[in-house]
Amino acid sequence: MSDASGEVRTTCPYCGVGCGVIATRAADGSVAVRGDPQHPANFGRLCSKGSALAETLDLDGRLLFPEVGGQRVSWEVALDAVATGLRDTLTAHGPEAVALYVSGQLLTEDYYVANKLVKGFIGTANIDTNSRLCMSSSVAGHKRAFGTDTVPGSYEDLEAADLIVLVGSNLAWCHPVLYQRILAARAARNGRPRLVVIDPRRTASCDQADQHLAIAPGTDSILFDGLLVHLHRQDCIDLDYVEAHTEGYLAALRAARAHAGSVPDVARACGLPGEAVAEFFAAFARTAKVVTVYSQGVNQSSCGTDKVNAILNCHLASGRIGKPGMGPFSVTGQPNAMGGREVGGLANQLAAHMDFAADDVARVQRFWAAPVIAERPGLKAVDMFRAVAEGRIKAIWVIGTNPVVSLPDADAVRAALHACPLVIVSDAVADTDTVACAHIRLPAATWGEKDGTVTNSERCISRQRAFLPLPGAAQPDWWILCEVARRLGFGAAFDYAGPAGIFAEHAALSAFENDPAGRVRDFDIGACAGLDAPAYDALTPFRWPQPAGGAGIGRFFAEGGFYTGDNRARFVALGPRAPVYAPDAAYPLVLNTGRVRDHWHTLTRTGKSARLSAHAPEPYAEIHPLDAALFGIVDDALVRVSSRWGEAVVRAKLAREQRPGSVFVPMHWGSPQASRGRIDAVVNPATDPHSGQPESKHTPVRIAPW
Ligand code: SF4
Repeated sequence: MSDASGEVRTTCPYCGVGCGVIATRAADGSVAVRGDPQHPANFGRLCSKGSALAETLDLDGRLLFPEVGGQRVSWEVALDAVATGLRDTLTAHGPEAVALYVSGQLLTEDYYVANKLVKGFIGTANIDTNSRLCMSSSVAGHKRAFGTDTVPGSYEDLEAADLIVLVGSNLAWCHPVLYQRILAARAARNGRPRLVVIDPRRTASCDQADQHLAIAPGTDSILFDGLLVHLHRQDCIDLDYVEAHTEGYLAALRAARAHAGSVPDVARACGLPGEAVAEFFAAFARTAKVVTVYSQGVNQSSCGTDKVNAILNCHLASGRIGKPGMGPFSVTGQPNAMGGREVGGLANQLAAHMDFAADDVARVQRFWAAPVIAERPGLKAVDMFRAVAEGRIKAIWVIGTNPVVSLPDADAVRAALHACPLVIVSDAVADTDTVACAHIRLPAATWGEKDGTVTNSERCISRQRAFLPLPGAAQPDWWILCEVARRLGFGAAFDYAGPAGIFAEHAALSAFENDPAGRVRDFDIGACAGLDAPAYDALTPFRWPQPAGGAGIGRFFAEGGFYTGDNRARFVALGPRAPVYAPDAAYPLVLNTGRVRDHWHTLTRTGKSARLSAHAPEPYAEIHPLDAALFGIVDDALVRVSSRWGEAVVRAKLAREQRPGSVFVPMHWGSPQASRGRIDAVVNPATDPHSGQPESKHTPVRIAPW
């Protein structure tokens, strides 16, 4: 939607806050970017990354033309090579030998087409996304408790709360505009909401906090089980809500009491002072309006799903869900992690929040008129690349992501790709560790050049609009996927004129064969099923669900209505589960990976901005001064961080904010920017059994001068 001034309303391509951006292109081609005052996520605010977007639009380093075997070719030749390679693999080895690994950077329309092609036409569910690394434990936790992957609340609840519990999230750096909204609310409401941060590290999010609990890594579910017991003892259980809308409370309480029966027990297990635990429990118990915000520190764990359910148990038990200022709130890392969940971008989902239940499989097959359909979940990210290494997957198409930098045990991922008979990579960037492994390279359009929609952490769907011409031969991902589908003989089902038609089809599927009793599905955007191109172009941000002819729902579950067979939420009885790999004499420290304030993912965009790069110009290891003294590390020197899986060389930063026994290293750097700084080569590949999310916050390592 471009107005007379040439301003285009779009959304930021970085984090899951999903801020609205206004881009203006001048006659000389230069672009200016500012926050969109009308967008409900940010009301005009932008963080340092969003503000610097205009500095990242040059074509340096772009992949601009298709390549096969390292030679520049036409699109016809490249697409024929992709289709021939996939067809030959399917003929010789069947659909399970093919996989797609995609990205939370994709727009919903790209995601929808990729999922439809793989699950409905190739006939395998081997499509997974880097969102697996970001929030799949939240998805699994939501499904266990609510029956669906539904975020109950909205950003307004964070401003209306009287207490925000921030767990495993450096919101100040990773979701800055949301953090700014909280600070603005505190300024306007005399310090409300109060802020408790639960994180092994003292991060920037602690600067304004009323309390910081520097919890021992991996013990969050013990803390929240202890909270459940405390709420019970203090008579803070909402018995009316529990009896009317839930199942399994007593079993969950019994399980919690077995290992988190008293404040001293909890404090000991979590490595916290007893008074601090008691203070946090008392604050939660006496405050009605509590929002618990959680992110990768909870999700990226081999017991991430249990941690999520420990949090949900407390909110269900106290009835603090779905009401203004109350509820559990998972913030997603990526700009369209949520959109990917909606179309079935995860290997264990189908489409439109449907899964592999027989009814859903049949419904989706009817809607797509699909010749085949995947009937069971496919391989999740870590298992997918393991299958590549073992030769079970013989053709993989990586779209818009850089797994040789971002997946755990990243050296093994690189070796797997080098051994794979067919590696296709679609990317906007020419020089990444993953593109270097590709036999076929396809130039993809990127932010500012492509059109579609994204969904942010509060279920708000917004348009991302193009304001730049397609450079070189670059094309949008949906177009590339449709051209391959056409060559595989599926042209009629992929005959889209543009993203508007794809979005309308996606919306129609969300309402297809709705419950005859009239119950709206959680993800129902049937109101958009008939959108034509002009209406799609003019689409303003809206929160799902938006059923045809009906009103949306602002918040879910205040009056129950869960998407389980009996409409009742499920408490989950939990036991303590330690991280898979414990520190020992050889690897005595715990590595925790994460992000820095001014960079995003593997630096392919933020690395272009000098002012963003100035904040953290190179990879580093933050280590407590006492640990540094123990291991002979001096500030600012290069150090080798090594584990059983690999090693990286980074700069040491002595920081008292770091919990003794832990090391923090950011995950952004790959070989092109820092030849030895690829920290995911060090990270262990253990995953959560429910979600498949890797344990990126807990790898035993040692550290030594380089
Ligand atoms: Fe972009 Fe996130 Fe910053 Fe908003 S908070 S401007 S979405 S990076």
